[in-house]
Amino acid sequence: MPRPLPDPADAATEADLTPTRATVNLAHLRHNARVLHTLSEGAPLLGVVKADAYGHGAVPVARALAEVGVQHFAVATVPEALRLRRAGIRGRILVFGAPLPAFLPAYVTHELDVTVPSAEIAAAVETLARTHGPVRVHVKIDTGMGRIGLAPGEAPAVIRRLLQTPGITVAGVWTHFASAGDPDGTFTREQLALFEGVVRSLDGLDAALLHTASSSALFHVPESVHRFDRPLVRTGLALYGLNSRTELSREVGLRPVMRLTSRVTHLKTVEPGTTISYGRTWRAERRSRIATVGAGYADGYIRRLSNRAEVGLHGQRFPVAGTVCMDMFMVDLGAPEGPGGEVRVGDEVVLFGTGGPSAVEVARWADTIAYEVVCGVSARVPRLYLDAAEPSDTPA
Ligand SMILES: *Cc1c(COP(=O)(O)O)cnc(C)c1O
Repeated sequence: MPRPLPDPADAATEADLTPTRATVNLAHLRHNARVLHTLSEGAPLLGVVKADAYGHGAVPVARALAEVGVQHFAVATVPEALRLRRAGIRGRILVFGAPLPAFLPAYVTHELDVTVPSAEIAAAVETLARTHGPVRVHVKIDTGMGRIGLAPGEAPAVIRRLLQTPGITVAGVWTHFASAGDPDGTFTREQLALFEGVVRSLDGLDAALLHTASSSALFHVPESVHRFDRPLVRTGLALYGLNSRTELSREVGLRPVMRLTSRVTHLKTVEPGTTISYGRTWRAERRSRIATVGAGYADGYIRRLSNRAEVGLHGQRFPVAGTVCMDMFMVDLGAPEGPGGEVRVGDEVVLFGTGGPSAVEVARWADTIAYEVVCGVSARVPRLYLDAAEPSDTPA
């Protein structure tokens, strides 16, 4: 009798049969939420769980955040919001993206908050409130990001009209900073001043949340939170324990939530002059132990890491040798008589997280940002959820 096939939807089963996995520590996530809540001096957090919670898994992340009192969530698209609703997430869900008019009825059906980025969408929302029922909106003002939103000059008239329309609740007015990560904060303060100019010119916003800050703004321009009576901090990256300025994460005690590991699937010793991988970009200068690792760019281990990144193995760092392939890459373990000679097939290789480089370091090697590194961990990689702090964990 053949044994039954494992359920392919079961991440734990998949993880038993594939070398690569992303371990997501929900205790660290909740810890980070508490840290950020303290930093924000009690201002409520909006948990940004777009893009499957930056690759961490939107449903388990939203549930864990709800356990520590987070009641506001945001996603990029309506289908992302529907996945949360289907999983029983009941908090407010703001969809950040500019809606196309055809999407609007779904917001009412599923009780989602609409981003109003233009006078045209404001008008469409007025019609929606008449035809479909009550609508909650967050009006977006473009103060310098140049992406979506009403110009500061046109915003007051549009907001006044929405405030007077039956069936519409102006639940929020918001803006987004273009360079919140800039420690100097000059442009962020200019954007904040433009935003305040608009909201201070309006009556009737007493019940609306006024929100401007993302993770970085909370660190660098805290008045973007504290200036308002009813603020909200839209925090993503910091919840996941990352910040482009590593020192800052360490200072406030953020703990990285995701750890990406794979395993050694093959080992060999090569003679001097041997080349490794596509394009032959790496050549052995001496007899070298070479490990093949069972992950590649199709798992999100960016090809740009070829000959640049390091991985953690047995608590030490070893360099990537040659081009990263779709499903594998190679690591130079050094001389066979050295510490790398102890490595065995099946040993864990840390691509980022405890025991290896941080996602921020990986991002630097790949000429990108930590956001892209964690979002890029592909659907092929099983996510395993831990719910206990790892005492050995160091900040990102
Ligand atoms: C993604 C996003 C955020 C979260 O930014 P982090 O830097 O991850 O905290 C906040 N606001 C908007 C509009 C976003 O698109």
